[in-house]
Amino acid sequence: GRTAHSHHVMMLPSLGHGHLIPFMQLAKKLAAKGLTVTFVVTFHHMSSLQKKVDAARESGLDIRLVEMEVTRDELDLGKVNSNSVQWHQLPPLLAGNERLQEPFHRFLQRYLGGELSGSLAAPRLSCLIADFLLGWASAVAKKFDIPRVCFDTSGMFGESVQQIVWDVLPRNLPRTDSGRYVVPGVPKEVRLTRLQMLPEHPEATTDNGTHQFWLRQRRGNKQSWRIIANTFYELEAEFVEHFQRVNGTLRTIGPLLPPEAFEDRPRRIAPAVEMGLNTEEDKCLDWLDAQAEASVLYISFGSENSIASAQIEELAIGLEASGAKFVWVLRTPSDTGSKAFSSALDFLPEGFHSRTVEKKQGIIILGWAPQLSILAHPATGGFMSHCGWNAVLETTTMGVPMIAWPLYAEQHFNSKFVVDEIQIALEAPQRIDQNFLVTRDGVERIVKVLMVEEKGRELRERVRELKALARAAVAEGGSSTKNLDLFVSEIMSL
Ligand code: UDP
Repeated sequence: GRTAHSHHVMMLPSLGHGHLIPFMQLAKKLAAKGLTVTFVVTFHHMSSLQKKVDAARESGLDIRLVEMEVTRDELDLGKVNSNSVQWHQLPPLLAGNERLQEPFHRFLQRYLGGELSGSLAAPRLSCLIADFLLGWASAVAKKFDIPRVCFDTSGMFGESVQQIVWDVLPRNLPRTDSGRYVVPGVPKEVRLTRLQMLPEHPEATTDNGTHQFWLRQRRGNKQSWRIIANTFYELEAEFVEHFQRVNGTLRTIGPLLPPEAFEDRPRRIAPAVEMGLNTEEDKCLDWLDAQAEASVLYISFGSENSIASAQIEELAIGLEASGAKFVWVLRTPSDTGSKAFSSALDFLPEGFHSRTVEKKQGIIILGWAPQLSILAHPATGGFMSHCGWNAVLETTTMGVPMIAWPLYAEQHFNSKFVVDEIQIALEAPQRIDQNFLVTRDGVERIVKVLMVEEKGRELRERVRELKALARAAVAEGGSSTKNLDLFVSEIMSL
């Protein structure tokens, strides 16, 4: 048969930043097995990826980066800040992913026709690995007779809950006496609070934009040749099984993280993609070196989201009062309005910096945080997180318990998952009656519970059990290793 090098996969991530990291990590894994990988992105991502791809090529991996032509107007992203979208509208980023269909179709036609530089020199395409937010990719791939692989970058608990919620529609879900929404058969009954139901508005009807969006994606994704997901079987076995019953065979291949992430006490772990300037890693690690084991709370709301200015203030005051050591990734608030400011520091309460940072209670990171290195550091004992799926996998792999503080979309389902299902997190007390604010008292209390009380110690023990399972899944003979090997051999037999 042909050698691995004559097998070529094309990878197509969706528009947001969040999915690039697992996509690139997978690209590296596939290339390390000898496959040729062509990574296709829009202008948004060229600059953050070019250096990474060059470095990968220098280390002998055959990864190629190609830009597909598309204009800003064509994608019509408008204001991409998801915090400002009304519940009945389809967020611009999701809508933009659908508008990518035409440009990609054009691109593939030219690529396969040998019109693009470099495309002739590449081996014949074996398959297209496209994001699960790009359901249309199945139809486009089919036109060119290329098998489509659906890459699901979410957890299977969240995916399964979301599918059922939308099939039944939020407002038609049964409610308990205490007002909880009952999601049946996921495969068991799951009860969600109003807060956990936030992504799916209770007043939604079948013509709701988000409902229609997910229907289209699911219909498209069902036509995939294979489905792979960045999770591991042992983390959520019953939900993986459930997902497979509904959607067909799923190969779980995660956590997709750099190899150093699985070493004992690694010093530095560079993510597969950095989305910003990371100038503070040394300062941050040196500071952590001076702290006691498991004494520091790491605070980050991910790569896209930020919290409101009133929330920054409550968080700051509560954090200071808790006395906990902290590393806080501070972003410009979601509601700066027309206020003039020089940095996100301007939104901290008067005197906060001098009372905490200057007194060595904590440090603040304004740029791109070295999240993996921070989570791997023995001084880090808690993670206040928006519950993006990557954050969940990373904290599990590093054995750090969480304070779950979801802001948007499936983060609410992920929060339910880490709090109630795998029990590695406490839920931040968001006040529905106060625009989802967590008050200063709420912050102080929950930080103390996680960082100093017995309950926090229990969570830390529990997450360490999962840490061992995550490592076993990607070690030799582990479930994810076997699934990835199987997947690669299937590609090679195409
Ligand atoms: N990340 C990071 N530094 C930052 C912000 C984010 O390294 O300052 C990484 C983080 O480790 C994770 C990813 O970016 O791998 C964010 O993905 P996640 O699914 O947690 O959230 P999203 O940003 O997609 O909401």
